[in-house]
Amino acid sequence: MNTPYRNRYQAMMNDVVAAGACSACGACVTVCPHNVIVYDAGQPRRRNAKTGTPFDACEVSEGVGCDLCAAVCPRLWPRETHLRDVVFADDRPYEGIFGIYRHIFVARARQPEAGAQDGGVVTALLAWARQADRIDGAVVAAVGDGDRPCLPTPKVATTVAEIKASAGSWYTYCPNPLALAAVRKRKLERVAFVGVPCQITPLRKMEFIDPGVLISAKKVPEVVSRHRGFLRGQPGRVAFSVGLFCTEVFTPELMTERIERQLGIPLAEITKVNVKGEIRISCDSGAMARIPLDEAMQGYQRPECRHCGDFSAELADFSCGGVGTDGATIVVLRTHKAVELWRDFEASGAVETWPIAEHRKAWNILLRLARQQRGRVPLSPAAATLPQYAAHAETEAAMQILIAAGKTIAEIEASMAAACGDEPLARQRSFRTGTAIPNDPGDPAAGEKRLLPPPPPVDLGGGTP
Ligand SMILES: Cc1cc2nc3c(=O)[nH]c(=O)nc-3n(C[C@H](O)[C@H](O)[C@H](O)COP(=O)(O)OP(=O)(O)OC[C@H]3O[C@@H](n4cnc5c(N)ncnc54)[C@H](O)[C@@H]3O)c2cc1C
Ligand code: SF4
Ligand code: SF4
Ligand code: SF4
Repeated sequence: MNTPYRNRYQAMMNDVVAAGACSACGACVTVCPHNVIVYDAGQPRRRNAKTGTPFDACEVSEGVGCDLCAAVCPRLWPRETHLRDVVFADDRPYEGIFGIYRHIFVARARQPEAGAQDGGVVTALLAWARQADRIDGAVVAAVGDGDRPCLPTPKVATTVAEIKASAGSWYTYCPNPLALAAVRKRKLERVAFVGVPCQITPLRKMEFIDPGVLISAKKVPEVVSRHRGFLRGQPGRVAFSVGLFCTEVFTPELMTERIERQLGIPLAEITKVNVKGEIRISCDSGAMARIPLDEAMQGYQRPECRHCGDFSAELADFSCGGVGTDGATIVVLRTHKAVELWRDFEASGAVETWPIAEHRKAWNILLRLARQQRGRVPLSPAAATLPQYAAHAETEAAMQILIAAGKTIAEIEASMAAACGDEPLARQRSFRTGTAIPNDPGDPAAGEKRLLPPPPPVDLGGGTP
């Protein structure tokens, strides 16, 4: 059955993977309840497929209707802009080109880890949260034993020492959602999740996609219930998410071919790679090598990132980045949950902060990059008129499917209960939108230059809570 709300495995394999748009997030593999797909060379692939099986065929999708993989894929509709209502509801004081926010400011850890990328805020926040027993661990990207130097893999860090060892950004792709399987296996109930925007979106889809997609006429309630566990069970273990600003990642050949082979820098000697208008490679000798950004982008930018419209992790609880700052992190608190955590974190004395108005350059670059990146995914006229994703339509459609299939009232109720759990059956609501960024001149008239709004003052979201 096809509805605008129900994406299929076949569509994901054709319109995302074969089309060269797959972000490599691994979320489809993480939620697959039947172990049908495996993460192979950065893409989902059928496990043990018989010779001749089409690459876009899954018997479970075609047989009973499963398609959890496609339901969470960040590249299929609904995309970030369509998910605002279900994710934020009325928790949205301000909203502008970089998404919904409550507070935006700049911060630095008072004792940043040696390898921290910008202000060391992400690692300090995670370490504080673990120490204060707010989380059992954190999903991070880190280079550990058994990894090639500079090429991180997803990890679940459960000790403060492990969290601190994950400080620093690596600009090659690391599929952090794959670590959610280990979170489940280790029975961790409250982890923080750190990831780039294309990893935050599937996490939110797991949390908010209409549970009606779990229902089909051919599934018995026990199967529906099991599938629900794979969909909702994973975000249910995530206490909060930290999204990292992101314009692109580079292919591993930037490290192995350009830096190691051509520049002759052994990867094991690299302590940090940073992108600040150029690529800066710091070595443990103290030396720094540089590669012009244009050159790195031409030779090593990952083409799949051109399909990404979310620079600032618009759906995360916290978003953090380092554009236009030096040794400090731009912090966006988007949700009420983030505000509450930040208050306690700041009160611990672990960070110093500045109003965003004192970092005008960072503010301006953030706005420009967010706008530029949204422009990468221009909505077709048809998609532009699509309403916000409403978490009720599929549940109601699913009920009609069961009625049409001749199910009894008891069977329908059992299937609905298995799909929805104790979630209230969502009803269409209209949410108020947030206030525009204060003094935002808005879109320019045709032919006129775009003017950026000034950074907001502290009492209008431009400082810490
Ligand atoms: C691939 C990538 C691209 C980025 N692009 C931009 C950008 O264009 N503009 C911008 O302003 N900021 C960008 N950032 C964010 C920036 O590099 C910092 O992570 C951010 O400013 C937080 O700094 P910090 O010192 O507070 O973080 P730290 O305390 O150093 O913590 C960094 C965190 O990043 C996680 N991490 C490291 N590598 C990866 C990875 N490959 N994938 C997922 N998580 C990872 C670690 O697990 C760690 O928790 C990018 C980050 C990544 C990982
Ligand atoms: S349709 Fe279901 S079983 Fe098939 S690959 Fe997707 S999630 Fe796995
Ligand atoms: S869920 Fe992620 S890994 Fe899977 S197809 Fe979509 S973008 Fe690719
Ligand atoms: S630009 Fe960043 S967030 Fe977007 S697909 Fe690439 S790695 Fe993911």
